[in-house]
Amino acid sequence: MKYVQEAFDTNWIAPVGLNVNEFEKEICNFTKAKQALALSTGTAGIHLALKYLGVKKDDYVFCSSLTFSASCYPILYEGAVPVFIDSEPNTWNMSPVALEKAFEWAHRENKIPKAVIIVDLYGQSADWDALIPICRRYNVPIVEDAAEGLGATYKGKHCGTFGEIGIFSFNGNKIITTSGGGIAVSNDEKAIKKMFFWSTQSREQVRHYEHKEVGYNYRMSNISAGIGRGQLEILADRIAKKKYIFSCYEKGLKDLPVKMLPVSSDGQSNYWLSVMTIDEESLLDRDEIIDALEEENIESRPVWKPMHLQPLFSSSLFFSSWERKSVAEDLFVRGVCLPSDSKMTDEDIKRTISIMKRKFEEAYEIEQKQSLA
Ligand SMILES: *Cc1c(COP(=O)(O)O)cnc(C)c1O
Repeated sequence: MKYVQEAFDTNWIAPVGLNVNEFEKEICNFTKAKQALALSTGTAGIHLALKYLGVKKDDYVFCSSLTFSASCYPILYEGAVPVFIDSEPNTWNMSPVALEKAFEWAHRENKIPKAVIIVDLYGQSADWDALIPICRRYNVPIVEDAAEGLGATYKGKHCGTFGEIGIFSFNGNKIITTSGGGIAVSNDEKAIKKMFFWSTQSREQVRHYEHKEVGYNYRMSNISAGIGRGQLEILADRIAKKKYIFSCYEKGLKDLPVKMLPVSSDGQSNYWLSVMTIDEESLLDRDEIIDALEEENIESRPVWKPMHLQPLFSSSLFFSSWERKSVAEDLFVRGVCLPSDSKMTDEDIKRTISIMKRKFEEAYEIEQKQSLA
């Protein structure tokens, strides 16, 4: 409220002002990125990043399949062709094995992509030491979609700073919010400068309005940036609370045939969402769990439906980690995103856990009776 009030008091109610500049600096200080560009959404950041990397009509772009659609929509904005890459089971992020397969195909077919979009899913870092060398070998730049990963690290380095360009989202559902917003970060000064130019309607440096290139109205408002500055101050508390929620589920669910999203020892997750998978031979499936919670007015959801299974991308190529089955598809079938809001009380968490326990107990009893009969 203090930063927003300042914006009103100084009458900078615009996509320009002190909060925008300071928010960019603060994100740089926090993530150790050299440059930042505050934007209206994270999606806008991915779009400008792809443009900067020269993605044009009919170019190929690789992208994680297990993600939210906004990771790959910008590929379509530019008329380019997405190719989807499977997950690995350790963090559910892009599989180096599947990425390697995709590059071998692209090399054979002369379809080397202009960029690879790699997501840090559910607040946990991708395996950069495995993924970066593959992209380097083919000389293809990385766009890091760290929309969900602010505050997460990999071997001591912040998520968002592994790609040529990284983005964070401050949409209302993310770990911190500006109500809606995003930011692009990079060590490449030229990239941020060019992206700034496009994000402010491609105005040439002359007195009148002169335009040589298409532009976008993609800058963040000074009001939103004020919210972001305040939110950044409580990010550490948010992460601590999210981690606590995750650990409560981990303890509370340990006797059930479910597993929490694996936590890698390579980094620190921000625990944005507490997600679990139901064991393959379990008596209950994903939808039965979601229904049981819904009956008690508790919202849970399936894991992201992989992009290669979406009707919009039905003609897109997909490279799987395994021969017969895809990891992403398996996670979609068995995965449940549990309520993870930082406002949850101990009582809320306990209730969610006990409903799932009861549901499993009931299923077990029904099976017992049936096997006796
Ligand atoms: C939220 C999200 C985005 C989009 O960010 P917006 O700020 O909502 O445009 C992109 N990728 C992933 C993985 C996301 O979760």
